Amino acid sequence: MTDDAQGDTSDGRSLAGAPLAAETDARAGEESRLKAGCSQDWLPHKESWVESANDPASDFPIENLPFAMFERDGSARLGVGIGDQILDATAAFGIGCMKDVMAMRRPSRAELRSRIGALLAKQTAGAESLLTPMAGARLLLPCEIGDYSDFYASIHHATNAGKMFRPDNPLLPNYKWLPVGYHGRASSIVVSGMPVRRPLGQTVENPAGPPSFGLSRRMDYEVELGAFLGPGNVMGEAIPASEACDHLFGVCLLNDWSARDIQSWEYQPLGPFLAKSFATSISPWVVTMEALEPFRCAAEARPEGDPQPLPYLQTGGNDALGITLEVWLGTARSEPVRISRSNFARMYWTLPQMVAHHASNGCPLKPGDLIGSGTVSGPEKENRGCLLELTWRGTEPLQLPSGETRRFLEDGDEVILRGYCEAPGLRRIGFGECRGTVTAGRGSV
Ligand code: MN
Repeated sequence: MTDDAQGDTSDGRSLAGAPLAAETDARAGEESRLKAGCSQDWLPHKESWVESANDPASDFPIENLPFAMFERDGSARLGVGIGDQILDATAAFGIGCMKDVMAMRRPSRAELRSRIGALLAKQTAGAESLLTPMAGARLLLPCEIGDYSDFYASIHHATNAGKMFRPDNPLLPNYKWLPVGYHGRASSIVVSGMPVRRPLGQTVENPAGPPSFGLSRRMDYEVELGAFLGPGNVMGEAIPASEACDHLFGVCLLNDWSARDIQSWEYQPLGPFLAKSFATSISPWVVTMEALEPFRCAAEARPEGDPQPLPYLQTGGNDALGITLEVWLGTARSEPVRISRSNFARMYWTLPQMVAHHASNGCPLKPGDLIGSGTVSGPEKENRGCLLELTWRGTEPLQLPSGETRRFLEDGDEVILRGYCEAPGLRRIGFGECRGTVTAGRGSV
């Protein structure tokens, strides 16, 4: 293999050179000051020798190169999505797992991306042996997730949900000053395709109680973006807002399953607990911040009269992401239909602001930690990212083309999240899917 196989990549090194190790490198200090977005080495509409990647409808063209963990020959391996194939990055580059890539500083991740791109841009002898068809492959959780926190960053969702729980006071005074969040449960995060059992819990008929213990009758989904953390900070040190983007590794689709009847009884004064912790589903593919670079844009201007963020939350960059998110609902009787569509660019708080806020008290963030964005809703009814909002707490049932109606999810319902980025002159990139089917709960009292 020679350097001319590199084409337009910048590093000019051999493709399958020495394995890249996870780094805690000394040069990081200097390199981390490199401006975000320095790795735009991919021109639009680049071709791959993996033919299916050149289909404009593919989620996984060579501009994307998302990571997933998958099973091959009985072992877990790091994969890269290309068209309808998975490249075995463990075999090609000697990287054992995704967390090793998450721990790399941004310049090293960009260099790895260049090497993967070069390998998939020009065919070399034997390279086909590194491919596994996606169809039939077993995809795993991206990594063992250390900590999981969930935010509430859509002002449209917060206002709608707030109106239902507190009609006279929908947005609390802190909302426009900080990205509100809570600590979630990492142990119940599952990968797309895993069924989700209806939970048991305390619910009330009357807001003042008394409660009974039984199966949730108001089970809901929430369409969110999940963001995996990169290098992170040491305990006691904050992450400056201007560097927060460098500590984001990539994003996936996230369904924050929610039992609304359990939630409304338990959530005060400390926030969500068992209404959320029974399950969270994520997509197996993690789309890197490098792939999202062309889809960055300025966050929406705050309405007149809203406060500007405090200095520690001012990132000064184009930190919003133009990602379209769709929710599809299938039932035991009918094929999936799209029930909502929203755009992540409309969030009130951006992912770098969430990272800067999360670490501002010195709490250490680590590679493989996951943050959820909060339900991604927009201003219109079709942008509402959960059934609570879409059916207005069940008072306006959703009419499905099959004639069925839904207030909340029923057993056998399948929720499918999809996401993609589109912009003029750029090739579309996608996130694959996050699927989960609700199964009957066990027992009641
Ligand atoms: Mn949520």
